[in-house]
Amino acid sequence: MPPEPLADFSRLCLHTITTKPWSVEEATRHYAAAGIRGMTVWRQWLAGRDPAAVGQAVREAGMDVVSLCRGGFFPAVDAAGRQAAIDDNRRAIDEAAALGAPLVVLVCGAVPEQPLAESRRQIRDGIAAVVDHAAAAGVRLAVEPLHPMYADARSAINTLAQANDLCDELASPWVGVAVDVYHLWWDPELETQIGRCGRAERLWAFHVCDWRTPTEDFLNDRGLMGEGCIDIPRIRGWVEAAGFRGAIEVEIFSHRYWAMDQHAFLDEIKRAYLRHV
Ligand code: ZN
Repeated sequence: MPPEPLADFSRLCLHTITTKPWSVEEATRHYAAAGIRGMTVWRQWLAGRDPAAVGQAVREAGMDVVSLCRGGFFPAVDAAGRQAAIDDNRRAIDEAAALGAPLVVLVCGAVPEQPLAESRRQIRDGIAAVVDHAAAAGVRLAVEPLHPMYADARSAINTLAQANDLCDELASPWVGVAVDVYHLWWDPELETQIGRCGRAERLWAFHVCDWRTPTEDFLNDRGLMGEGCIDIPRIRGWVEAAGFRGAIEVEIFSHRYWAMDQHAFLDEIKRAYLRHV
């Protein structure tokens, strides 16, 4: 196979969950060796570790920590549960600050026992309760709308319009959005709402993968870019027209990819990034 003509990986970032079999130390070593420049760290990868030391190791390997995934899950059926979520989000913000991550991605949460409108109010109130803590830590919060198939238990924020409305309501320079093509590709308002993000200067993260047909597992069967129906270059064009110049983050949850050799998977990701993003 001939070499790729424009092998520029300077904006490529991987989420540690994409290579789930690897620890954060392995991911740091192997991503850096593969020429990748950004890492988004999932909180589980920090278990038993000093976040400051992890962040330092990532930077010494020549990479940036792009964000910490994830905070959120604000709704709960009782006040004690909602307070526990607020406390946990403050801890996530502290971990991000120690790690040197400028951003915490929020999967906002939902509980099936209550109406979506109630979960949305609790999300707004939960973010409002932690935003001063985020500002003091110098860590921004990005609301990531999730595909409506997750509206029961993972997020009551399901469109970019809802995320924009929430940001407008909170009116904080510390609260913006993360656009993930997996969750938003189907939305007829997507281009318009990405433009709205751009005017508000709140588009702070861009996550890519693909939508497989048939999807065999609603959580862990995400596709590699190019093997599904998402027009990623088109959405990237909208995102960049809105002023986004940040990392392009590959976030793939997939039993089939986690089962393969992760070095070979990394090679496939790099190829797919050049051809299909
Ligand atoms: Zn995402």
